[in-house]
Amino acid sequence: MKPDVILCHYGEIGLKGKNRGYFEKKLQENLRKTLKKFSPDTYSSIGRMFGRLIIRLNEKGQNEIDSLNAALKNVCGMVYFAPAFKVVQNKDKITKLAVELMSVEDYNSFRVTTRRTDKDFPVSKQKMNEDVGAAILEATGKMVNLNHPDKTCFIDIVDGKAFVYTERFNGQSGLPVGVSGKVMSMLSGGIDSPVAAYYAMKRGAVVSFVHFHSVPYTNEASIEKVREMIEKLQVFQQKFSLHLVELAPIQKEVMVLTAEKYRIILYRRFMVRIAEALAKIQKAKALVTGDSLGQVASQTLENMSVIEEAISVPLLRPLIGFDKLEIIAKAREIETYDISIQPDQDCCALFVPKHPATKARLVDVIIEEKKLDVEMLVQQAIKNVKTEIFE
Ligand code: ATP
Ligand code: MG
Repeated sequence: MKPDVILCHYGEIGLKGKNRGYFEKKLQENLRKTLKKFSPDTYSSIGRMFGRLIIRLNEKGQNEIDSLNAALKNVCGMVYFAPAFKVVQNKDKITKLAVELMSVEDYNSFRVTTRRTDKDFPVSKQKMNEDVGAAILEATGKMVNLNHPDKTCFIDIVDGKAFVYTERFNGQSGLPVGVSGKVMSMLSGGIDSPVAAYYAMKRGAVVSFVHFHSVPYTNEASIEKVREMIEKLQVFQQKFSLHLVELAPIQKEVMVLTAEKYRIILYRRFMVRIAEALAKIQKAKALVTGDSLGQVASQTLENMSVIEEAISVPLLRPLIGFDKLEIIAKAREIETYDISIQPDQDCCALFVPKHPATKARLVDVIIEEKKLDVEMLVQQAIKNVKTEIFE
């Protein structure tokens, strides 16, 4: 048997009162974008229906249900989805379909869970659960287990129709990409920053990327890595821009003119300034980094605040409360980990001081920075930015 539709449930969005229509529309649009890689005759429409979205499958989609499921698992703002079978709102027909679907061998215990949105359907959900359950029991000889069933037969009575399904899959939860506005995410070649970008998308932000490199003093490995990462992240957001910024000219000035122990902080202040300028051009409202409190020298509260002082847009750090192992687990899940651990030549590893300041004071940093033409260096970096589009 082949499912007729995929029911998409979005939980949190349903709570958003007046914004609900907007959120639903965004999710609908994102479902379309996610399914774009399939041929156009995979489904006939994506409709809205009482607190869920419904993808109406054509024969082609029915035959490719496993690939569709795999793609839909990546949609942010969707709590779960279920390939479902459509039937008329008739108790006998619903029961017959449920028995058919549950007549498979791969479980021992089951329950029936009915949701009745259409109150004019004459049978209560309790009665449906009992009667359909009894019919399944009789046909299959399986056990009923209300609390910990191996398999659940779901019946949705909604919109003048009924849907029956026995399998559902988790989406990414969170909010649909696009409902929270744009952010500029700082992507190094490391493990943390792609995970941070993922969490920004999961909360509804549209992400653009900026990467700083020191080519020609380093090789291009980090650039190649961020490109590969972005390709992985395209399952969550289909279109990205990547801004490649040359940091070397700034690093050279910093190295020649300023005290060694503040170098990393000075580089970082330049990075966030440039990222902020790019954010403004792109109409992005915040920056995102993969900082995690206390992880490395530059991530003490003191240093973070000195770095952040250079800019006025909010700097978001989605990973602030995560342990490294948790970040790694997520990086594996979103498939960026294997790329991150490839060797590269980090721009900040170049020209690093032997003893970087871990608790820099703003006054001292500013004294050093005064030795540089900050405005000119930022402008020059922006002028030389190379932008790549991933679509
Ligand atoms: P990551 O694994 O993300 O590189 P990290 O633990 O190595 O993080 P840092 O090197 O201190 O920590 O970088 C902190 C954050 O600063 C990164 O997560 C990233 O958002 C940003 N960042 C660092 N280097 C770069 C770079 N070359 N280009 C863009 N952003 C960078
Ligand atoms: Mg790094």
